[in-house]
Amino acid sequence: MKEADYKELKKGGMMRQREAGHFSVRLHVVGGQMTTGQLCAIREAADRFGKGTVHLTTRQGMEIPSVPTESLASLKEFLSDSGVGVGVCGPTVRTVTACQGCRICPSGAIDSPALADAVDREFYGKPVPHKFKVGISGCANNCMKAEENDIGIKGWIGPAWNKEGCTFCGVCEAVCPTKIVKVSEDDGRVSVDLAGCIGCGDCIEACPTGAMEEETRGCQIFAGGKFGRVPSLGKRILGVLRSGEEAIAAIRAAVDFFRIHGKPRERFGDTLRRTGFEALENHMTERMGKSA
Ligand code: SF4
Ligand code: SF4
Ligand code: SF4
Repeated sequence: MKEADYKELKKGGMMRQREAGHFSVRLHVVGGQMTTGQLCAIREAADRFGKGTVHLTTRQGMEIPSVPTESLASLKEFLSDSGVGVGVCGPTVRTVTACQGCRICPSGAIDSPALADAVDREFYGKPVPHKFKVGISGCANNCMKAEENDIGIKGWIGPAWNKEGCTFCGVCEAVCPTKIVKVSEDDGRVSVDLAGCIGCGDCIEACPTGAMEEETRGCQIFAGGKFGRVPSLGKRILGVLRSGEEAIAAIRAAVDFFRIHGKPRERFGDTLRRTGFEALENHMTERMGKSA
């Protein structure tokens, strides 16, 4: 097989293995969700076309290793008939990762799988200058490590203090993990330095009287993170996004920015270090019609 053919196969999620004439076939998994029907089909595919094993990847994906070259076409057809997509590689928007979100997890602020589906529908496999990963955490606990992604989303529950009903018990100050709540009975006030708030909502949940109220629920967005050889954490951009639609509009604007300013084989974070994060925020603000 020619090198060009290997490259073409890789783009379609079929990775050449060390063992000559064999491939590890990447599957299309969205936000870590699979139906039992898909899992049964994958098991059968691994038995029939591979060596009876499946590899779980670090990004909630699955691969069927040890598939001989001559079985690739039949495997693809079998998977497609069974409702299982084949993954992508190369300079494209990759599989989106997500936690279980607010429909399952009691801590969840947003519906991470629903947002992952929406991201996947619009962006999966679309061309960009280099690989582009999106990860979605449903709350500030950040199980999906939002900052390690080119675009990371993290659920947000933000507080506002209401003097009515406050007994100055000090619970909100005690539970705040970032120590930005200050209770002063002498001054008759509770202050929250929102610049340092991580949107965990703990002060709201812990307040015994309801005086610490939920003011904002939505998500935060981080740009330019990556792992690999030279890891770097994404930086928080824009304010709180209030809906899934707003989050999708933000990702659309970020992808658009990357297409305009990114160089081939340059990760999004490196593009942003060249252009400045402010340029991205300005672009997104303009595209989304939103204040940064
Ligand atoms: S990030 Fe939050 S919502 Fe998602 S699984 Fe973790 S604790 Fe639950
Ligand atoms: S926990 Fe509630 S009642 Fe207690 S000081 Fe904070 S806002 Fe006031
Ligand atoms: S939401 Fe979390 S970080 Fe923000 S003030 Fe409340 S406890 Fe502190």
